[in-house]
Amino acid sequence: MIELRGVSKTVESGGRPLTILHPLDLSIGSGQFLAVVGPSGSGKSTLLGLLAGLDAPSTGAILVDGVDITSLSEDGLARLRGEKIGFVFQFFHLVPSLTAFENILVPMEIARRRDAVPRARLLLDEVGLADRGHHYPSQLSGGEQQRVAIARALANDPPIVLADEPTGNLDSTTGAHIMELLLSVRRARGSTLVLVTHDAELAALADARLSLRDGRAVDPAPARRAGALP
Ligand code: ADP
Ligand code: MG
Repeated sequence: MIELRGVSKTVESGGRPLTILHPLDLSIGSGQFLAVVGPSGSGKSTLLGLLAGLDAPSTGAILVDGVDITSLSEDGLARLRGEKIGFVFQFFHLVPSLTAFENILVPMEIARRRDAVPRARLLLDEVGLADRGHHYPSQLSGGEQQRVAIARALANDPPIVLADEPTGNLDSTTGAHIMELLLSVRRARGSTLVLVTHDAELAALADARLSLRDGRAVDPAPARRAGALP
């Protein structure tokens, strides 16, 4: 369960404060799939960074399973990310000097899992890359790199998966396959998913939608509401 209470973010821009996320209240239940939509620059990545504890909010509290992560130390945040959160990025963010297999190993080695090596093999197989483990990211297509990134994000079976436009850099066919994969592994694990997407069809599959505009939550379907009036 993730709860945001009055969470905002203000940054310095050109010597002046600029609020890029206005105070937001939000509850995301365990196992829920939340789609975050909105135009470029509306604050979607900012929100995901705050949920992951990669960035600190200017105001408010972010409770993950009852723990206010804004009060955690850097070490505490790193532990939280290692245990509870898997992150999938638009540009994959694999370590270029490590093979696909080694990229997937990293989070499990940090967590000191004894089964890291056999599990990395299982994960590679799960994302359809059993025979590509020895390849470096530069030797893989965008879709294959994102498969590796998904395996890495799921390596420690995090209860929460955050994905920031994971198909935004892929052609539509590859993107559709990647989303199928992400949704199926997520279903199998029952993890909470917060997905930033531009794809309205995909957002429609979610349990809930958050629509951002200029850093504010807006009604995701005003037209439908107005249309429902007699
Ligand atoms: P989105 O992911 O919806 O495209 P972002 O969350 O990346 O939007 O950014 C929201 C807005 O905040 C953008 O206008 C962006 O330029 C601005 N922004 C983000 N981070 C900073 C920062 N550290 N300093 C100044 N402006 C920022
Ligand atoms: Mg973004």
